[in-house]
Amino acid sequence: MEFNTRLLHGKAIVRNPSREILPPVSQVTAFRYENMEELEKVFQHKSMGYAYSRIGNPTLSSFEQRISELEGGSGAVCCSSGMAAITAAILAVCESGDEIIAASWLYGGTIDLLHDLEKLGIHTRFAKTMSEEEIRPLINEHTKLIFGELISNPALRVLDVPGISALAHEAGIPLFVDSTTATPYIAQPLLLGADVVIHSTSKYLNGGGNAIGGVIVDGGKFPWKAEKHTALADFGKYGKAAFIVRLRTDIWENMGGCMAPVNAFLNYIGLDTLGLRMERICENADRLAKALDEQPGIEVNYLTLKKHPFHSYVEKLLKGYGGGILNFRAGSRKKAFRIIDSLKYAMIASNIGDVRTLVIHPASTLYIHLNDEEREAAGVYDDTVRVSVGIEDAEDLIADFLQALKASEDAADES
Ligand SMILES: *Cc1c(COP(=O)(O)O)cnc(C)c1O
Repeated sequence: MEFNTRLLHGKAIVRNPSREILPPVSQVTAFRYENMEELEKVFQHKSMGYAYSRIGNPTLSSFEQRISELEGGSGAVCCSSGMAAITAAILAVCESGDEIIAASWLYGGTIDLLHDLEKLGIHTRFAKTMSEEEIRPLINEHTKLIFGELISNPALRVLDVPGISALAHEAGIPLFVDSTTATPYIAQPLLLGADVVIHSTSKYLNGGGNAIGGVIVDGGKFPWKAEKHTALADFGKYGKAAFIVRLRTDIWENMGGCMAPVNAFLNYIGLDTLGLRMERICENADRLAKALDEQPGIEVNYLTLKKHPFHSYVEKLLKGYGGGILNFRAGSRKKAFRIIDSLKYAMIASNIGDVRTLVIHPASTLYIHLNDEEREAAGVYDDTVRVSVGIEDAEDLIADFLQALKASEDAADES
């Protein structure tokens, strides 16, 4: 089956006896049992069943199975947000004294979180390029995981998942990949060598901009070793499932960051159109990037542009797609603001992956907590405009951006 057929008719699509086409929204806190013995078995994990929605819920399971199949994983856990997913995934394998190697160009919230974890004794060594030469000397006996984003937002750097996962595995360390901006339509990091994939479902998987959520997908192939991964020591008997079992029955359950059932339903129906949306979004982004690239005075950053430093990865890892985010440097912060304010269709909003085109000035918003050096390492400059391209008609989007550029120049002439 090709992507869209598998999405709609794959193994994970539940054909339940009550014949609903979609999973029902089990918007309940708890599940009722006929006798105490039955409920006891559920708590002892001796029989399958749901007890309490923080620990498990059928609407969440429907979404988890579907995303796990799309990513080629062995199982998935839904979380209340992308950040909740990243936090739970890290805390399932790291404890005080452990170290993480992470790209310095991650999503701003993730960098903030890694700073927060310093206070819990989990130290991050940031890598500026995430090349093998740079990472190799950062690995030591405390390193417990390597964390990167497949396509970083907004720097648009691409993680060499096959190369870095090989290096990580040589050292007995797993590679965790945030694939929010790529989506399984563009790439399946688990099949490229990653061990765990994380998404903020708030973005492309949902697609409609209507629910915050996150998901962790386990590849189920990493050979966890109790001596090395001491945080997982009590789960050693689960072998390659140690991570997901600890995650589900310990960290995730006890941290309490579960996805709301109604959000799982919204994500489930959003996922139906993922392939169609990504196809259109990537085509629009490519056309808009090429049209903007012809304009004087702005510098466009988009993966399918031949001059892009990661252009060679587009065919190698991303099935020829550049993704839905493009950004450009306007020349000055003032001009960036003027362009943004002159756009008719693109909404000023701090989100990506919506069907509507969204635009933002990241330096003054998403990256406000970072210093200049950290911001530039993340690819965010004072004049950077980030565009999350939607599914509108490309001609209208291009015309809108060109008129906004012109309006910003006219305003500059007057002042
Ligand atoms: C948005 C985003 C997150 C955080 O997700 P939330 O759902 O907002 O918590 C993490 N990583 C990337 C790449 C993102 O774009």
